[in-house]
Amino acid sequence: MTGTAIRIAVIGSAGRMGRMLVDVIHRDGGAVLSAVVDRPGSDVVGMDAGELAGIGAVGLPVTDDPATAVAEADVVIDFTLPEATPAVAAACRAAGCALVLGTTGLGPREQRAVENLSEALPVVQAPNYSTGVTLLTALVEQAAAVLGHSVDVEIIEAHHRHKVDAPSGTALHLGEAVAGATGRDLSACAVYGREGHTGPRARQTIGFETIRAGDIVGEHTVLFAGEGERLELTHRASSRATFAAGAVRAAHWVVGRAPGLYNMRDVLGIGGHASGER
Ligand code: NAD
Repeated sequence: MTGTAIRIAVIGSAGRMGRMLVDVIHRDGGAVLSAVVDRPGSDVVGMDAGELAGIGAVGLPVTDDPATAVAEADVVIDFTLPEATPAVAAACRAAGCALVLGTTGLGPREQRAVENLSEALPVVQAPNYSTGVTLLTALVEQAAAVLGHSVDVEIIEAHHRHKVDAPSGTALHLGEAVAGATGRDLSACAVYGREGHTGPRARQTIGFETIRAGDIVGEHTVLFAGEGERLELTHRASSRATFAAGAVRAAHWVVGRAPGLYNMRDVLGIGGHASGER
């Protein structure tokens, strides 16, 4: 560790992603895990974050106090629930701390809290921090722009049985990428599952199919089906380590940036999209 190491606070440190983040940050020579926070009333409050992550004690107990944790950090990484987002954003604002937000399924109120924060401080928000999915989004935009309205587009995603939101934030983001590249409004053309007498498919719709099963880490396919051929672009995550590594990379990138709402394409330097796009 050097004097320039960034201090990272992890919110949701007992979760599947939180434990992975504790492990990745602990092994990062350029970062210090400065605080770990979980839900008030959780059994894990007071437990050692390293013990929870399965890497042995790191001497940092889990707290339930985001304000204090954020005050001692350069950047916060939050992978929790949407309900937590406004309080985390408020703590970041009060402390002047950057935010890397991984939580998905935000409603309009929570999204507004993120956007308000980004007017004062740098925020990275991405529904998927993996490098592969960030590239997938760029490839999907390219394919959609070329294929236009000559194909039917369907987005198929699969996740583990514990995931609470559907479709996944990544699937919706891929849908936005297709809609943006073909001049469509996703809220007007999305179809979430089909049942019964649906009639023939309308070309302008973008269909979503959701699978929830077992321990699937995360799989996304964008299917472009035309007459005589189809193109399928697929990403499969086999470990949450990819999301954690991407979020920590985003944390290093965002500290010291100008205020704004950034995404993973900004972090990776893959252009071709409006700044502020999620
Ligand atoms: P999880 O249920 O395993 O963990 C969530 C953790 O947050 C739990 O420990 C819970 O106690 C804690 N928590 C809940 N409310 C809290 C609060 N108010 N304050 C502090 N902690 C609180 O879930 P997970 O699989 O780790 O996923 C968490 C979130 O991250 C979900 O929204 C998921 O969709 C998202 N996710 C995003 C990416 C990405 O790359 N952006 C990747 C994986 C998961």
